[in-house]
Amino acid sequence: MTSGKFKKPPKIGFISLGCPKALVDTERIVTDLRAEGYLISSTYKDSDLVIVNTCGFIDAAVEESLQAIAEALDENGKVIVTGCLGGKDRGSFISMKFPQLLGVTGPDEADRVLELVHENFPSPHEPFLDLIPRGGVRLTPRHYAYLKIAEGCNHHCSFCIIPSLRGKLVSRPIGSIMREAENLVRAGVKELLVIAQDTVAYGVDVKYRLDFIGGRAVKTNVKVLFEELGKLGVWVRAHYMYPYPVVDDLVPLMAEGKILPYLDVPFQHAQPRVLKAMKRPGSESNMERINAWRSICPEITIRSTFITGFPGETEEEFQYLLDFLEEARLDRVGCFAYSPVEGAAANDLPGAIPQEVREERRSRLMALQEKISRDVLSRKVGSTIRVLVDEAPGDDGIAVARSASDAPDIDGLVLIEGGPMVLPGDFVDVKITRSEDYDLYGKIVKK
Ligand code: SF4
Repeated sequence: MTSGKFKKPPKIGFISLGCPKALVDTERIVTDLRAEGYLISSTYKDSDLVIVNTCGFIDAAVEESLQAIAEALDENGKVIVTGCLGGKDRGSFISMKFPQLLGVTGPDEADRVLELVHENFPSPHEPFLDLIPRGGVRLTPRHYAYLKIAEGCNHHCSFCIIPSLRGKLVSRPIGSIMREAENLVRAGVKELLVIAQDTVAYGVDVKYRLDFIGGRAVKTNVKVLFEELGKLGVWVRAHYMYPYPVVDDLVPLMAEGKILPYLDVPFQHAQPRVLKAMKRPGSESNMERINAWRSICPEITIRSTFITGFPGETEEEFQYLLDFLEEARLDRVGCFAYSPVEGAAANDLPGAIPQEVREERRSRLMALQEKISRDVLSRKVGSTIRVLVDEAPGDDGIAVARSASDAPDIDGLVLIEGGPMVLPGDFVDVKITRSEDYDLYGKIVKK
């Protein structure tokens, strides 16, 4: 460019649907586009092109993705689809419904998305436009970030189609994960949320091969990874831990304060026959394992998710699950009514449960868990806990924060009443003054 004038860079709009793993893909595409000088727009009208990152996990997510694509086509017209649903039937599921799209890619195909953008709006590469914040462009607030360590899954849970959408497990090199984590910490991140479809399987696909972190040879394995992340001096929170025995190896790291004492372990059910039909690990030992985790790390928070109304689930089997929850007294519980996702093996099982019964069981489970949560939280009143501030005080004077027990978006909050002033990303100690069903209230005792 010799005239000294810059061409106006194309503006790209984004719709990112689905789970944190999809959000990480979107962040990568946004980072790469910004690195090439594209601008990011927040409105259809102002965008030259819109990228829709879709989710295909359950029917409701498929419907939401289809609506988002239709809306983007209506409002803008130039649309690229990526993500889980984009990968369905190698793209033909979406391209047959929307032949006017500029292109369709599956998950983890950021490079193909960039090619499609280039084909339609060539890269406006300008050295003066290349200033990317260290740590890339993130869609989460500045002080926490998702760190994706692997893609895909080797399991065959009968209710799930993710392995057919995302493929088999592929672990990222440990050196590259650590470089990304270090950049994020240098960019101001205070909490790393480690994600994958199955976090504890990390390294299985590469047979735990040796890799290098800053010239040091280390094994590609989940325990080593968490030990290394634990040295960065920020909160490290592990998500989506399939209940393998290797989870037991991570609890001592929590007890030693290397990573947060937070175990996100989706049990999905408790009754042995139902678990077998789900193709999930057996249940007899789960209560014993929970007790063992608690004896190694008494402050551990255990989060889990469950499915109600799985095909063939009898009322007695559902009651078995409720009894398990009464005994386990898990800190955090999510629950889905079974959704017969197209292509899931479980749909062929006998004994489909009517939608109202699936929902009614879900409500009963959540009502029980509400009582348990209320009781668990009420025991924290009077204690002092460390929290990370998410939002400065609003007009009501209340600042929003989270403790080690609270992952963003899915768990409860710690609401701080009264001064002094705090900002997002601050760590403070809070004395808990009262509790509700899922949230705590407190006052700052130490900044
Ligand atoms: S572990 Fe099971 S539920 Fe999770 S992604 Fe793999 S197949 Fe799906």
